[in-house]
Amino acid sequence: MKLLNLLFPPKCIFCGRIIKGEDQCFCGDCLSAAPFVKEQRLKAGVSFVSGNTSVFFYEGRVRQALKRLKYQNKPQFAAFFGALLAKELKRTDDEPFDVATWVPAYRWKTIRRGYNQAELLAVKTAKALGIPARRLLFRCRPTRPQNGLTPSQRKANVLGAFRCADVCDFSGKRVLLIDDILTTGATASECARMLLESGCREVYLATVAKTRGK
Ligand SMILES: [Zn+2]
Repeated sequence: MKLLNLLFPPKCIFCGRIIKGEDQCFCGDCLSAAPFVKEQRLKAGVSFVSGNTSVFFYEGRVRQALKRLKYQNKPQFAAFFGALLAKELKRTDDEPFDVATWVPAYRWKTIRRGYNQAELLAVKTAKALGIPARRLLFRCRPTRPQNGLTPSQRKANVLGAFRCADVCDFSGKRVLLIDDILTTGATASECARMLLESGCREVYLATVAKTRGK
């Protein structure tokens, strides 16, 4: 890996400048110009979720980078965004989490892409926070893509689409639920509802980015 880095040094995905250190994707200048969420609205209006932290607004270079993470096999971006998310969580929410989990993808989607970006983000964020990452949720049926649907269609689209893992003990757990983007929150809310129904004490939502207005 070190030799590969010498031969092909990692470059900023926007300006092409060579960056030091593995697991980076923006250089310092491009990162400081990114659309950071300056004031967290911890109560983002997502039902069943106790609070929310997002690092960025979903626009500009962040939008481009997250699209690459999702569709272009750039799982190394997850380490970069996971570290940023952990840092922001430490700043905004000081109560410890018992476990981190993620919004699951339907199985064939993960197989086609080779990974689920939310799972990669959860694993990297959990590592940076020093907590375990566990699969607590499964998607039990395919759903239509949420974009292009109205808020009520989104809700209906994901209702009953998830189930909790049979083997886990959920009782009293404070869970960190991780996804890449928060839009209306319909999917996260349905995941949180299932986790609470299974006995979790609290579900806190963390996403790399959110749309403005959330
Ligand atoms: Zn740059």
